Amino acid sequence: MSTYFISDLHLDPQRPASSRAFVDLLGQIHPTDKLYILGDFVEYWLGDDDNEHQQESVFTSIATLNRSGTPVYFVYGNRDFLIRENYLQRFGMELLPDPAVIDLYGQRTLLMHGDLLCTDDSDYQNFRNMVRNPKWQSQFLAKPLQERRSIVTGLRQTSQQAMQKKLEHIMDVNQQTVEDIMRKYNAQRLIHGHTHRPGIHRFEIDKKECERIVLGDWYQDTSILQFNQTGYQLLSLDQMI
Ligand code: MN
Repeated sequence: MSTYFISDLHLDPQRPASSRAFVDLLGQIHPTDKLYILGDFVEYWLGDDDNEHQQESVFTSIATLNRSGTPVYFVYGNRDFLIRENYLQRFGMELLPDPAVIDLYGQRTLLMHGDLLCTDDSDYQNFRNMVRNPKWQSQFLAKPLQERRSIVTGLRQTSQQAMQKKLEHIMDVNQQTVEDIMRKYNAQRLIHGHTHRPGIHRFEIDKKECERIVLGDWYQDTSILQFNQTGYQLLSLDQMI
């Protein structure tokens, strides 16, 4: 009985290898396991009516896994927050809030996509507030698909240009924000993605041992966090098979 965490797969019909790897991973997961997808599952999502980017076969594989008994949970990232909750449910996924607290083999664990932790990047946080507003989202989703596509293409270009100018540390998490949120939710463990900087960070909060586990992306590799009763490991798909 294992619990798996993945994030930042950035699945894109242009890069089918990642989608194949994901389906291979699902083949390794048993009905008694659990799967958490912590955001940026797809490269981008213009709306549930965007047939070009829907990756129906990938979603169908998740639905099949869930029907076999495996619970599948989903936290939005900054690329896929426009997938509506009923679409996720149709494919066997339960949407969780960001942050979400779970009991992971007896330990309170905080799950996040990770973008909320990057508080040094105030431009990004302002942008996030705008696009996470339900009113902005319903206005955006009401636009014709072609118009949504050109808006998102423009936003992506602007964001790539902005990222090139930003210092490395601006796009990483802010340690004070990490500690504040872990203290607020009384959790000694935090699991997130987003930064594409996989690693395990250990530190103390109020004299208590804490850890932050960061998932890597699936652009080149396949980053998977596998937990069970006895411990955990960050591994890649070929280490599992
Ligand atoms: Mn992200």
